[in-house]
Amino acid sequence: MHVHRYYDVDVVNGPGTRCTLFVAGCEHQCRGCYNQSTWRLDSGVPFSLEMEERLLADLMDTRIPRQGLSLSGGDPLHPHNVPHIRRLVKRVRKECAEKDIWLWTGYQIDELNASQREVLDFIDVLIDGRFIEAEKDATLQWRGSRNQQLWYLR
Ligand code: SF4
Repeated sequence: MHVHRYYDVDVVNGPGTRCTLFVAGCEHQCRGCYNQSTWRLDSGVPFSLEMEERLLADLMDTRIPRQGLSLSGGDPLHPHNVPHIRRLVKRVRKECAEKDIWLWTGYQIDELNASQREVLDFIDVLIDGRFIEAEKDATLQWRGSRNQQLWYLR
């Protein structure tokens, strides 16, 4: 899995103060996508064990308390990313149990296959659906278009 950006302190992508990881790879090609540079799976840089350790350490850093982790992109549930994301969220759930995990995907929840669904077992909130320009609404919180939905899984 490749990643585009990592914010160790983020107050925009989800509630509270968070760590946010933007992964590479997205097959949805939404018109008006704000993040086209993330579409290619080989864009960005490889997600290394060092980056993972830093992310876990940031989540547990008591000097700047983080509410949780946000996973966006690109698409964290692109089939290529799923094994890596599943491993990461499983680890965060185990080692940072009190932190919440939010994940943005371009798939609709009812389109997810069995392995993509396994990721849902470890996250708190899923925001699903492609970005549809005709349904764009700047007043929405945490999503860009009205077709996208927030699923509180825990
Ligand atoms: S799902 Fe998100 S990243 Fe992918 S094309 Fe649509 S808006 Fe862009």
